[in-house]
Amino acid sequence: MFDFDVLVVGCGLSGATVARVLAEKGYHVKIQERRNHIGGNMYDYVDKHNILVHKYGPHTFHTNDKVLFDFMNKYSDWEEYKLTCGAEINGICTPTPFNYQTIDDFYSDEKAEKLKKRLENAFPNRTTITVVEALNCADNIVKEYAQFLFDNDYSLYTSKQWGVSPSEIDVSVLKRVPIRLGYETGYFEDKYQVMPKTSYTDFFVSILDNRNIKVELNVDALDYIVLNSDNKLIIDNKTFDGAIVYTGALDALFGYKYGQLPYRSLKFVWNNEKIKSKQDMPVVAYPQEEGFTRIVEYNKLPVQVTESTTYAVEYPLQYDPKKNQEPYYPVLTSKSKEQYKKYLSLSKGTDNLFLCGRLADFKYYNMDQALKKALKVSEQILEFLYNKK
Ligand SMILES: Cc1cc2nc3c(=O)[nH]c(=O)nc-3n(C[C@H](O)[C@H](O)[C@H](O)COP(=O)(O)OP(=O)(O)OC[C@H]3O[C@@H](n4cnc5c(N)ncnc54)[C@H](O)[C@@H]3O)c2cc1C
Repeated sequence: MFDFDVLVVGCGLSGATVARVLAEKGYHVKIQERRNHIGGNMYDYVDKHNILVHKYGPHTFHTNDKVLFDFMNKYSDWEEYKLTCGAEINGICTPTPFNYQTIDDFYSDEKAEKLKKRLENAFPNRTTITVVEALNCADNIVKEYAQFLFDNDYSLYTSKQWGVSPSEIDVSVLKRVPIRLGYETGYFEDKYQVMPKTSYTDFFVSILDNRNIKVELNVDALDYIVLNSDNKLIIDNKTFDGAIVYTGALDALFGYKYGQLPYRSLKFVWNNEKIKSKQDMPVVAYPQEEGFTRIVEYNKLPVQVTESTTYAVEYPLQYDPKKNQEPYYPVLTSKSKEQYKKYLSLSKGTDNLFLCGRLADFKYYNMDQALKKALKVSEQILEFLYNKK
């Protein structure tokens, strides 16, 4: 009845990975993607100024897991790339995570040396600390530094990013970007930190290049799939007993029965200027500016020698599915986690439905975490298809 064994909803890293693993085992896989391109949020393209840009924000692949890095290596060549980020505070661009350079940027030589010593005494043998630890430190000089960072960066940035007032900020969010005790730079700490030699889109072309994979773009799978009252998956009015891998948002799959799951979205405002450089680093946060959180300058990511520069200004927004926006970051609160659990238990009633990816799992996955989950789900599907024979 169907000319495919597996239907994958969504052609991001999760969907493409599952499709490739199953296709190599001889299964016919159809992928439906509602956007007009492959690659999900990792999609990149060369703009009219000849600069490779990432449509949905800057992506660096980073992991400590060699198995995952080896998997990525099968479909692309990669080059080492250490992403550097900064924050502009009082007109000075200082590295993030904040480090000893930050202390040098904002304190006189004498005060800077004193503060570094106090930090080392308060946190012996540590290379990083959280701003929360520093705010609670008994040493007043350390505390004052933490308060300066909190007032001028953490609280302003976080409240814009998550749409909450500084007093409502969950401390776990503040712990994500550490403070370094040293001059070490670079945003991530992982062993493997790379960018594709050509592009992420080329990586996707390669991973999808298998005769058992068929990709349909501009198709919203939810226009065709229905879960009936017996928890059977119906595609085009026919019961489908192969596997469906769903990488979209779970509330949408169930018609928002328990309400919308909260997400933050982003508006990217693109600009090109005939200058060599817009800012000191590829990604700079502007906590003290109104409305936007950061600017990403793409010719620095990794370095492209160009006549001009293309950059995107990122404005966080509350996600509204009716406004043609994209859900980027799940807003994780105890209420939203409970709401998600209700959707998850609904999905358990359908044994050929497999959830995968950052939207379906309602988690903020980095690429390596999404990949790890997709490889695990692929194994589960192989077992399901084997038992079905
Ligand atoms: C701004 C930003 C920056 C990031 N930077 C990094 C980084 O530097 N390093 C890192 O490791 N990770 C980064 N990430 C995370 C990374 O993007 C994800 O880990 C990865 O893209 C997850 O892939 P996915 O397939 O699960 O989801 P997605 O890439 O979101 O793919 C899901 C796909 O499903 C499609 N879809 C949804 N519903 C339907 C439907 N009903 N029918 C058809 N198609 C549908 C969507 O259109 C989408 O293309 C970043 C994320 C963001 C938002």
